[in-house]
Amino acid sequence: MKITAILDDIVPIRSDIRNAVIDFSQMTISIVAVVTDVIKDGKPVIGLGFNSNGRYAQQGILRERIIPRLLAASPDSLLDEAGTLDPFKAWAVMMTNEKPGGHGERSVAVGTVDMALWDAVAKIEEKPLSQLLAERYRGGEPDSSVFVYAAGGYYYPGKDLDGLQAEIQGYLNLGYSTVKIKIGGASLDEDLRRIDAALQMLDGGQSLAVDANGRFDLETALQYARALEPYQLKWYEEPGDPLDFQLSAALAANTSLPLATGENIFSAIDALNLLRYAGLRPPVDYIQIDPVLSYGLVEYLRVLDHLTRHGWGWRRCIPHGGHLFALHIAAGLGMGGNEAYPRVFAPFGSMGDTVQVENSVVQPPSLPGIGFEGCSEIMAHFDAMLGSL
Ligand code: MG
Repeated sequence: MKITAILDDIVPIRSDIRNAVIDFSQMTISIVAVVTDVIKDGKPVIGLGFNSNGRYAQQGILRERIIPRLLAASPDSLLDEAGTLDPFKAWAVMMTNEKPGGHGERSVAVGTVDMALWDAVAKIEEKPLSQLLAERYRGGEPDSSVFVYAAGGYYYPGKDLDGLQAEIQGYLNLGYSTVKIKIGGASLDEDLRRIDAALQMLDGGQSLAVDANGRFDLETALQYARALEPYQLKWYEEPGDPLDFQLSAALAANTSLPLATGENIFSAIDALNLLRYAGLRPPVDYIQIDPVLSYGLVEYLRVLDHLTRHGWGWRRCIPHGGHLFALHIAAGLGMGGNEAYPRVFAPFGSMGDTVQVENSVVQPPSLPGIGFEGCSEIMAHFDAMLGSL
């Protein structure tokens, strides 16, 4: 078998929301399709991927380096012993002539194609990706259900506490019982009013997480921690710069609050340094590395290896991104859950047209591959791109 074409396009996912650091008025994503010569039901198997969210489209790196390398490789060099596409071999080809370190955003470009490759492999094997992953890496069955929480509570222009409560009510109506809101984009007093307003809608602190998006210096991070501790929140996310491991270690040593971080850690070696130096506590804290932003599932499996060797259970991982790919990884490998974006980053936060969330738990789709074919609004973008085939 071989790859016959790789297509990519840019899709805008702009919205009016903002967190403590950026707005999303110019946000875009890359979508890619890896077309194979494997025929199922009279049509070629096509793997689909997109670059999660929070980073921009990666068309330059994709078109100038990543895609040409894959297309130039001899087809047999990309296959495993069974004659199927091997994402590990493809990863090595994509990273040809790339120096170590300084990851920039090439990790996002590689991760986007990696998602499409895994989708193709699972479609060729005619099973959901979660099933394939459980069989290959866990020696068994995938979890039948996965914890998901609604990531929202952004700062909308002109949005008041009533607006925040209405947003949370919307998540509750959709079946979520755990919600995350942004902090750090307002004063501490105003953020505490937002937290109080959110908690009025929820069953206790463990159902609310807060996210500062890396905004605080150590003094502010500690000030917030002291103010947040009485609420017993589910977690306190990215208090300081995601690469300031010393800040993280100082904070972790001075708070009982669970910390959560990792969505801006883009490689296995950065993850290893996070585990070594950031003072994170395996029984308490959460790792949120996004398998797409950080060089794909091939690299994420290396991250999981580091976690295991540093005493972390995989249930402490709740990936960033709110995409179906991470949902399959969470179910297949036995993670603690997955982020979800019920109302933002549409349509790429969709888990399927008919998927139901109940008490913040969801069942991964049973379609072959990742199952974007069950997400009509996502497929509209892929179909438009594939129309040029
Ligand atoms: Mg976050």
